[in-house]
Amino acid sequence: MKVNSIVKRISAAVITGCMLLTGLTSSTSAALTDGMITDSIISIKYKVSQEDINRAKQERDAARRRANEVNSRLNSLNGQQTELNNELANLNQMSAEQRAQYEIIAGQLQAALEAKQAALERFIAAQENLEEKQEQFANRVNAMFEFQNKSTLEVLLESDSIAGFFTNLEIIALIADADNQAIDELQIAMDDAQLQADAAMEEADEMQRIADAKQAELDELERRIGVTTAALEEVSTQITSAERERDNLNAEASRLDQRVRDLTRQYQVQQAQNYSGGGTKVVSGISFTWPVASRNITSPYGYRIHPISGVRKLHTGMDIGSSYGSTIVAAASGTVIQVNLPVPGRNTGGSGYGNYLIISHGNGVTTLYGHCRNIYVSSGQSVSRGQKIAEVGSTGSSTGPHLHFEVRVNGSTVNPRSYLP
Ligand SMILES: [Zn+2]
Repeated sequence: MKVNSIVKRISAAVITGCMLLTGLTSSTSAALTDGMITDSIISIKYKVSQEDINRAKQERDAARRRANEVNSRLNSLNGQQTELNNELANLNQMSAEQRAQYEIIAGQLQAALEAKQAALERFIAAQENLEEKQEQFANRVNAMFEFQNKSTLEVLLESDSIAGFFTNLEIIALIADADNQAIDELQIAMDDAQLQADAAMEEADEMQRIADAKQAELDELERRIGVTTAALEEVSTQITSAERERDNLNAEASRLDQRVRDLTRQYQVQQAQNYSGGGTKVVSGISFTWPVASRNITSPYGYRIHPISGVRKLHTGMDIGSSYGSTIVAAASGTVIQVNLPVPGRNTGGSGYGNYLIISHGNGVTTLYGHCRNIYVSSGQSVSRGQKIAEVGSTGSSTGPHLHFEVRVNGSTVNPRSYLP
Protein backbone atom coordinates (compact mmCIF):
# COMPACT_ATOMS: atom_id res chain seq x y z
CA MET A 1 0.00 0.00 0.00
CA LYS A 2 3.02 2.26 0.62
CA VAL A 3 4.32 1.52 -2.89
CA ASN A 4 0.84 2.14 -4.33
CA SER A 5 0.63 5.60 -2.83
CA ILE A 6 4.11 6.41 -4.16
CA VAL A 7 3.12 5.25 -7.63
CA LYS A 8 -0.04 7.36 -7.50
CA ARG A 9 1.91 10.42 -6.43
CA ILE A 10 4.52 9.82 -9.13
CA SER A 11 1.81 9.48 -11.80
CA ALA A 12 0.20 12.66 -10.53
CA ALA A 13 3.57 14.43 -10.66
CA VAL A 14 4.20 13.23 -14.22
CA ILE A 15 0.73 14.28 -15.39
CA THR A 16 1.10 17.68 -13.70
CA GLY A 17 4.54 18.07 -15.27
CA CYS A 18 3.10 17.43 -18.73
CA MET A 19 0.29 19.90 -18.19
CA LEU A 20 2.78 22.50 -17.04
CA LEU A 21 4.86 22.16 -20.14
CA THR A 22 2.01 22.30 -22.66
CA GLY A 23 2.00 26.08 -22.60
CA LEU A 24 5.73 26.42 -23.16
CA THR A 25 7.06 26.46 -26.71
CA SER A 26 10.72 26.48 -27.61
CA SER A 27 10.38 30.09 -28.76
CA THR A 28 9.19 31.19 -25.32
CA SER A 29 12.11 29.39 -23.65
CA ALA A 30 14.50 31.27 -25.95
CA ALA A 31 12.72 34.52 -25.21
CA LEU A 32 13.18 33.85 -21.50
CA THR A 33 16.91 33.37 -21.75
CA ASP A 34 17.21 36.48 -23.87
CA GLY A 35 15.15 38.34 -21.35
CA MET A 36 12.93 39.64 -24.14
CA ILE A 37 9.37 39.50 -23.02
CA THR A 38 6.74 38.77 -25.62
CA ASP A 39 3.01 38.17 -25.43
CA SER A 40 3.45 34.55 -26.56
CA ILE A 41 4.43 33.72 -22.98
CA ILE A 42 0.87 34.45 -21.83
CA SER A 43 -0.29 30.99 -22.90
CA ILE A 44 -0.06 29.38 -19.49
CA LYS A 45 -2.74 26.98 -18.28
CA TYR A 46 -2.81 28.10 -14.66
CA LYS A 47 -0.86 30.15 -12.16
CA VAL A 48 1.93 28.62 -10.13
CA SER A 49 2.56 30.18 -6.72
CA GLN A 50 5.75 30.24 -4.69
CA GLU A 51 3.85 27.98 -2.25
CA ASP A 52 3.40 25.36 -5.01
CA ILE A 53 7.17 25.36 -5.54
CA ASN A 54 7.85 25.20 -1.79
CA ARG A 55 5.45 22.29 -1.38
CA ALA A 56 7.10 20.40 -4.25
CA LYS A 57 10.50 21.09 -2.69
CA GLN A 58 9.28 19.77 0.67
CA GLU A 59 7.96 16.60 -0.97
CA ARG A 60 11.23 16.15 -2.86
CA ASP A 61 13.30 16.75 0.30
CA ALA A 62 11.10 14.30 2.24
CA ALA A 63 11.72 11.66 -0.43
CA ARG A 64 15.47 12.37 -0.27
CA ARG A 65 15.43 12.12 3.53
CA ARG A 66 13.60 8.81 3.40
CA ALA A 67 16.03 7.54 0.75
CA ASN A 68 18.89 8.54 3.08
CA GLU A 69 17.24 6.77 6.02
CA VAL A 70 16.82 3.61 3.96
CA ASN A 71 20.42 3.97 2.84
CA SER A 72 21.61 4.11 6.46
CA ARG A 73 19.59 0.97 7.18
CA LEU A 74 21.15 -0.58 4.10
CA ASN A 75 24.66 0.25 5.35
CA SER A 76 23.90 -1.42 8.67
CA LEU A 77 22.50 -4.48 6.88
CA ASN A 78 25.61 -4.67 4.72
CA GLY A 79 27.68 -4.58 7.91
CA GLN A 80 25.62 -7.44 9.33
CA GLN A 81 26.07 -9.38 6.12
CA THR A 82 29.85 -8.97 6.30
CA GLU A 83 29.87 -10.13 9.95
CA LEU A 84 27.72 -13.17 9.15
CA ASN A 85 29.92 -14.04 6.18
CA ASN A 86 33.00 -13.88 8.41
CA GLU A 87 31.27 -16.00 11.05
CA LEU A 88 30.27 -18.55 8.44
CA ALA A 89 33.82 -18.67 7.08
CA ASN A 90 35.09 -19.23 10.66
CA LEU A 91 32.55 -21.98 11.31
CA ASN A 92 33.43 -23.69 8.04
CA GLN A 93 37.11 -23.42 8.93
CA MET A 94 36.43 -24.87 12.42
CA SER A 95 34.26 -27.56 10.90
CA ALA A 96 37.04 -28.49 8.48
CA GLU A 97 39.54 -28.69 11.38
CA GLN A 98 37.15 -30.70 13.54
CA ARG A 99 36.42 -33.01 10.64
CA ALA A 100 40.17 -33.56 10.11
CA GLN A 101 40.52 -34.35 13.84
CA TYR A 102 37.54 -36.65 13.60
CA GLU A 103 39.18 -38.48 10.69
CA ILE A 104 42.26 -39.09 12.87
CA ILE A 105 40.14 -40.20 15.83
CA ALA A 106 38.08 -42.46 13.60
CA GLY A 107 41.36 -44.03 12.38
CA GLN A 108 42.49 -44.54 15.98
CA LEU A 109 39.11 -46.03 16.87
CA GLN A 110 39.39 -48.43 13.95
CA ALA A 111 42.89 -49.46 15.10
CA ALA A 112 41.64 -49.96 18.66
CA LEU A 113 38.75 -52.07 17.44
CA GLU A 114 41.17 -54.17 15.38
CA ALA A 115 43.52 -54.52 18.39
CA LYS A 116 40.55 -55.56 20.52
CA GLN A 117 39.62 -58.16 17.91
CA ALA A 118 43.21 -59.48 17.80
CA ALA A 119 43.42 -59.65 21.61
CA LEU A 120 40.13 -61.50 21.75
CA GLU A 121 41.39 -63.94 19.14
CA ARG A 122 44.61 -64.48 21.13
CA PHE A 123 42.61 -65.01 24.29
CA ILE A 124 40.39 -67.56 22.54
CA ALA A 125 43.46 -69.34 21.09
CA ALA A 126 45.11 -69.43 24.53
CA GLN A 127 41.95 -70.81 26.02
CA GLU A 128 41.77 -73.49 23.32
CA ASN A 129 45.46 -74.40 23.84
CA LEU A 130 44.87 -74.77 27.53
CA GLU A 131 41.80 -76.91 27.06
CA GLU A 132 43.65 -79.15 24.56
CA LYS A 133 46.60 -79.53 26.88
CA GLN A 134 44.35 -80.23 29.81
CA GLU A 135 42.67 -82.97 27.77
CA GLN A 136 46.01 -84.50 26.76
CA PHE A 137 47.10 -84.32 30.37
CA ALA A 138 43.91 -85.98 31.51
CA ASN A 139 44.50 -88.78 29.00
CA ARG A 140 48.03 -89.27 30.14
CA VAL A 141 47.00 -89.16 33.80
CA ASN A 142 44.52 -91.93 33.03
CA ALA A 143 47.30 -93.94 31.34
CA MET A 144 49.57 -93.34 34.30
CA PHE A 145 46.88 -94.34 36.74
CA GLU A 146 46.76 -97.63 34.90
CA PHE A 147 50.57 -97.75 35.04
CA GLN A 148 50.65 -96.71 38.67
CA ASN A 149 48.06 -99.35 39.58
CA LYS A 150 50.74 -101.90 38.82
CA SER A 151 53.02 -102.83 41.72
CA THR A 152 56.64 -101.73 41.68
CA LEU A 153 57.42 -105.40 41.20
CA GLU A 154 55.18 -105.61 38.16
CA VAL A 155 56.95 -102.50 36.71
CA LEU A 156 60.26 -104.14 37.57
CA LEU A 157 59.20 -107.41 35.93
CA GLU A 158 57.91 -105.61 32.85
CA SER A 159 61.13 -103.60 32.58
CA ASP A 160 63.82 -105.29 30.44
CA SER A 161 66.49 -104.28 32.88
CA ILE A 162 67.01 -102.64 36.22
CA ALA A 163 68.13 -99.55 34.38
CA GLY A 164 64.94 -99.66 32.37
CA PHE A 165 62.96 -100.00 35.59
CA PHE A 166 64.34 -96.74 36.97
CA THR A 167 63.96 -95.08 33.63
CA ASN A 168 60.31 -96.02 33.58
CA LEU A 169 59.81 -94.60 37.05
CA GLU A 170 61.62 -91.39 36.12
CA ILE A 171 59.67 -91.06 32.91
CA ILE A 172 56.42 -91.33 34.81
CA ALA A 173 57.54 -88.56 37.19
CA LEU A 174 58.95 -86.38 34.39
CA ILE A 175 55.84 -86.63 32.28
CA ALA A 176 53.76 -85.55 35.24
CA ASP A 177 56.12 -82.60 35.97
CA ALA A 178 56.29 -81.48 32.31
CA ASP A 179 52.56 -81.59 31.94
CA ASN A 180 52.05 -79.68 35.15
CA GLN A 181 54.54 -77.05 34.06
CA ALA A 182 52.97 -76.78 30.57
CA ILE A 183 49.57 -76.36 32.10
CA ASP A 184 50.91 -73.66 34.41
CA GLU A 185 52.46 -71.85 31.43
CA LEU A 186 49.28 -72.16 29.44
CA GLN A 187 47.32 -70.86 32.42
CA ILE A 188 49.71 -67.88 32.61
CA ALA A 189 49.42 -67.29 28.84
CA MET A 190 45.66 -67.43 29.09
CA ASP A 191 45.59 -65.00 32.04
CA ASP A 192 47.87 -62.70 30.06
CA ALA A 193 45.60 -62.95 27.01
CA GLN A 194 42.65 -62.17 29.27
CA LEU A 195 44.42 -59.01 30.56
CA GLN A 196 45.33 -57.91 27.06
CA ALA A 197 41.81 -58.50 25.81
CA ASP A 198 40.41 -56.50 28.75
CA ALA A 199 42.87 -53.65 28.08
CA ALA A 200 42.08 -53.70 24.34
CA MET A 201 38.36 -53.57 25.09
CA GLU A 202 38.86 -50.66 27.49
CA GLU A 203 40.96 -48.86 24.87
CA ALA A 204 38.31 -49.46 22.21
CA ASP A 205 35.58 -48.19 24.55
CA GLU A 206 37.63 -45.04 25.32
CA MET A 207 38.20 -44.39 21.62
CA GLN A 208 34.51 -44.86 20.95
CA ARG A 209 33.73 -42.30 23.64
CA ILE A 210 36.19 -39.77 22.13
CA ALA A 211 34.81 -40.40 18.63
CA ASP A 212 31.26 -39.88 19.91
CA ALA A 213 32.25 -36.60 21.60
CA LYS A 214 33.93 -35.39 18.39
CA GLN A 215 30.87 -36.35 16.40
CA ALA A 216 28.73 -34.30 18.82
CA GLU A 217 31.03 -31.26 18.30
CA LEU A 218 30.73 -31.71 14.54
CA ASP A 219 26.95 -31.91 14.81
CA GLU A 220 26.94 -28.70 16.88
CA LEU A 221 29.10 -26.93 14.27
CA GLU A 222 26.81 -28.12 11.49
CA ARG A 223 23.85 -26.75 13.45
CA ARG A 224 25.54 -23.35 13.90
CA ILE A 225 26.44 -23.28 10.20
CA GLY A 226 22.78 -23.90 9.44
CA VAL A 227 21.65 -21.07 11.76
CA THR A 228 24.23 -18.63 10.34
CA THR A 229 23.35 -19.53 6.75
CA ALA A 230 19.67 -18.92 7.49
CA ALA A 231 20.50 -15.53 9.09
CA LEU A 232 22.57 -14.60 6.01
CA GLU A 233 19.69 -15.45 3.71
CA GLU A 234 17.36 -13.32 5.83
CA VAL A 235 19.78 -10.34 5.73
CA SER A 236 20.25 -10.76 1.97
CA THR A 237 16.47 -10.66 1.50
CA GLN A 238 16.28 -7.50 3.61
CA ILE A 239 19.12 -5.92 1.63
CA THR A 240 17.38 -6.65 -1.67
CA SER A 241 14.13 -5.14 -0.44
CA ALA A 242 15.89 -2.07 1.10
CA GLU A 243 17.80 -1.51 -2.14
CA ARG A 244 14.54 -1.61 -4.08
CA GLU A 245 12.94 0.82 -1.60
CA ARG A 246 15.93 3.19 -1.80
CA ASP A 247 15.93 3.08 -5.61
CA ASN A 248 12.20 3.80 -5.68
CA LEU A 249 12.65 6.74 -3.30
CA ASN A 250 15.57 8.10 -5.30
CA ALA A 251 13.51 7.83 -8.47
CA GLU A 252 10.64 9.59 -6.71
CA ALA A 253 13.03 12.31 -5.49
CA SER A 254 14.35 12.77 -9.05
CA ARG A 255 10.84 13.07 -10.45
CA LEU A 256 9.88 15.53 -7.71
CA ASP A 257 13.07 17.47 -8.42
CA GLN A 258 12.04 17.67 -12.07
CA ARG A 259 8.64 18.89 -10.86
CA VAL A 260 10.34 21.61 -8.77
CA ARG A 261 12.29 22.69 -11.87
CA ASP A 262 9.15 22.67 -14.03
CA LEU A 263 7.21 24.68 -11.44
CA THR A 264 10.11 27.11 -10.98
CA ARG A 265 10.36 27.59 -14.72
CA GLN A 266 6.61 28.10 -14.93
CA TYR A 267 6.83 30.59 -12.08
CA GLN A 268 9.62 32.49 -13.81
CA VAL A 269 7.57 32.61 -17.00
CA GLN A 270 4.67 34.06 -15.00
CA GLN A 271 6.96 36.57 -13.31
CA ALA A 272 8.33 37.59 -16.69
CA GLN A 273 4.78 37.90 -17.93
CA ASN A 274 4.15 40.34 -15.11
CA TYR A 275 6.38 42.94 -16.80
CA SER A 276 3.71 43.43 -19.43
CA GLY A 277 0.86 41.42 -17.99
CA GLY A 278 1.22 43.12 -14.63
CA GLY A 279 -0.05 46.23 -16.28
CA THR A 280 1.13 49.80 -16.34
CA LYS A 281 0.38 52.92 -14.41
CA VAL A 282 0.39 56.40 -15.87
CA VAL A 283 1.83 59.15 -13.68
CA SER A 284 2.63 62.65 -14.98
CA GLY A 285 1.73 61.43 -18.44
CA ILE A 286 4.36 58.66 -18.26
CA SER A 287 3.43 54.96 -18.37
CA PHE A 288 5.33 52.89 -15.74
CA THR A 289 5.76 49.16 -15.25
CA TRP A 290 7.61 47.13 -12.62
CA PRO A 291 11.38 47.08 -13.35
CA VAL A 292 11.79 43.44 -12.14
CA ALA A 293 9.50 40.43 -12.06
CA SER A 294 9.72 40.18 -8.29
CA ARG A 295 7.22 42.00 -6.07
CA ASN A 296 9.23 41.27 -2.95
CA ILE A 297 9.81 44.70 -1.45
CA THR A 298 12.53 44.13 1.15
CA SER A 299 12.89 47.79 2.12
CA PRO A 300 10.44 50.55 1.18
CA TYR A 301 11.13 54.19 0.49
CA GLY A 302 11.40 56.37 3.59
CA TYR A 303 13.32 56.84 6.82
CA ARG A 304 14.98 53.73 8.20
CA ILE A 305 18.01 52.50 10.13
CA HIS A 306 20.57 51.83 7.41
CA PRO A 307 21.41 48.05 7.37
CA ILE A 308 25.15 48.71 7.02
CA SER A 309 25.87 52.09 8.67
CA GLY A 310 23.25 51.67 11.43
CA VAL A 311 22.37 55.36 11.02
CA ARG A 312 18.76 56.49 10.65
CA LYS A 313 18.38 58.21 7.35
CA LEU A 314 16.16 58.51 4.32
CA HIS A 315 16.10 55.44 2.11
CA THR A 316 15.89 57.19 -1.23
CA GLY A 317 14.47 54.29 -3.18
CA MET A 318 12.63 51.03 -2.93
CA ASP A 319 14.53 47.71 -2.55
CA ILE A 320 13.06 44.79 -4.47
CA GLY A 321 14.57 41.45 -3.54
CA SER A 322 15.41 39.21 -6.50
CA SER A 323 18.01 36.58 -7.37
CA TYR A 324 21.38 37.31 -8.98
CA GLY A 325 21.08 37.76 -12.73
CA SER A 326 17.32 38.46 -12.76
CA THR A 327 16.31 40.74 -15.58
CA ILE A 328 15.87 44.47 -14.94
CA VAL A 329 13.75 46.32 -17.50
CA ALA A 330 13.20 50.02 -18.05
CA ALA A 331 10.24 51.06 -15.86
CA ALA A 332 9.22 53.57 -18.53
CA SER A 333 10.41 54.62 -21.98
CA GLY A 334 13.10 57.27 -22.12
CA THR A 335 16.76 58.01 -22.64
CA VAL A 336 19.66 56.63 -20.64
CA ILE A 337 21.42 59.68 -19.20
CA GLN A 338 23.98 58.02 -16.95
CA VAL A 339 25.68 54.63 -16.70
CA ASN A 340 28.12 53.96 -13.91
CA LEU A 341 29.79 50.56 -14.18
CA PRO A 342 32.72 50.31 -11.70
CA VAL A 343 32.55 46.49 -11.28
CA PRO A 344 30.99 45.15 -14.50
CA GLY A 345 29.68 41.56 -14.47
CA ARG A 346 30.30 41.09 -10.74
CA ASN A 347 27.76 40.15 -8.09
CA THR A 348 29.46 42.27 -5.42
CA GLY A 349 32.13 44.95 -5.14
CA GLY A 350 32.31 48.71 -5.50
CA SER A 351 30.62 51.20 -3.19
CA GLY A 352 27.41 53.22 -2.88
CA TYR A 353 25.01 52.29 -5.70
CA GLY A 354 27.61 49.92 -7.21
CA ASN A 355 26.81 49.43 -10.88
CA TYR A 356 23.86 51.71 -11.70
CA LEU A 357 22.15 53.68 -14.43
CA ILE A 358 19.68 56.54 -14.71
CA ILE A 359 16.97 56.95 -17.34
CA SER A 360 15.25 60.26 -18.08
CA HIS A 361 11.57 59.98 -19.02
CA GLY A 362 10.83 63.67 -19.67
CA ASN A 363 8.74 66.08 -17.59
CA GLY A 364 11.67 66.15 -15.08
CA VAL A 365 11.13 62.49 -14.12
CA THR A 366 14.13 60.09 -13.89
CA THR A 367 14.51 56.52 -12.62
CA LEU A 368 17.65 55.00 -11.10
CA TYR A 369 18.55 51.28 -10.99
CA GLY A 370 21.22 50.44 -8.39
CA HIS A 371 23.44 47.52 -7.23
CA CYS A 372 23.29 45.90 -10.72
CA ARG A 373 25.49 42.97 -11.68
CA ASN A 374 25.70 44.16 -15.25
CA ILE A 375 24.24 46.91 -17.45
CA TYR A 376 23.36 46.39 -21.11
CA VAL A 377 22.65 49.93 -22.29
CA SER A 378 24.85 52.96 -22.67
CA SER A 379 24.47 56.63 -22.00
CA GLY A 380 22.42 58.45 -24.65
CA GLN A 381 20.60 55.30 -25.73
CA SER A 382 16.82 55.35 -26.11
CA VAL A 383 15.00 52.58 -24.29
CA SER A 384 11.39 51.53 -24.29
CA ARG A 385 9.29 50.43 -21.33
CA GLY A 386 9.88 46.71 -20.55
CA GLN A 387 13.21 46.56 -22.42
CA LYS A 388 15.97 44.71 -20.64
CA ILE A 389 18.57 47.18 -19.42
CA ALA A 390 20.48 45.37 -16.65
CA GLU A 391 20.74 42.35 -14.33
CA VAL A 392 20.16 42.17 -10.58
CA GLY A 393 23.29 42.05 -8.42
CA SER A 394 24.56 43.13 -5.00
CA THR A 395 27.29 45.61 -5.93
CA GLY A 396 27.96 48.70 -3.82
CA SER A 397 26.58 49.03 -0.25
CA SER A 398 24.33 46.03 -0.35
CA THR A 399 23.72 42.97 1.81
CA GLY A 400 22.20 40.70 -0.85
CA PRO A 401 20.89 40.59 -4.40
CA HIS A 402 18.17 43.23 -4.97
CA LEU A 403 17.29 46.17 -7.15
CA HIS A 404 17.43 49.59 -5.57
CA PHE A 405 14.83 51.50 -7.62
CA GLU A 406 14.58 55.26 -7.34
CA VAL A 407 12.25 57.78 -8.92
CA ARG A 408 13.24 61.47 -8.91
CA VAL A 409 11.14 64.41 -9.92
CA ASN A 410 13.18 67.50 -10.74
CA GLY A 411 16.09 65.99 -8.85
CA SER A 412 14.21 65.12 -5.61
CA THR A 413 13.47 61.52 -4.68
CA VAL A 414 9.83 60.47 -4.32
CA ASN A 415 8.22 57.20 -3.21
CA PRO A 416 8.66 54.96 -6.29
CA ARG A 417 5.83 52.65 -5.18
CA SER A 418 3.31 55.35 -6.19
CA TYR A 419 4.57 55.16 -9.76
CA LEU A 420 4.15 51.42 -10.18
CA PRO A 421 0.91 49.58 -10.95
ZN1 LIG B 1 17.98 50.74 -1.50
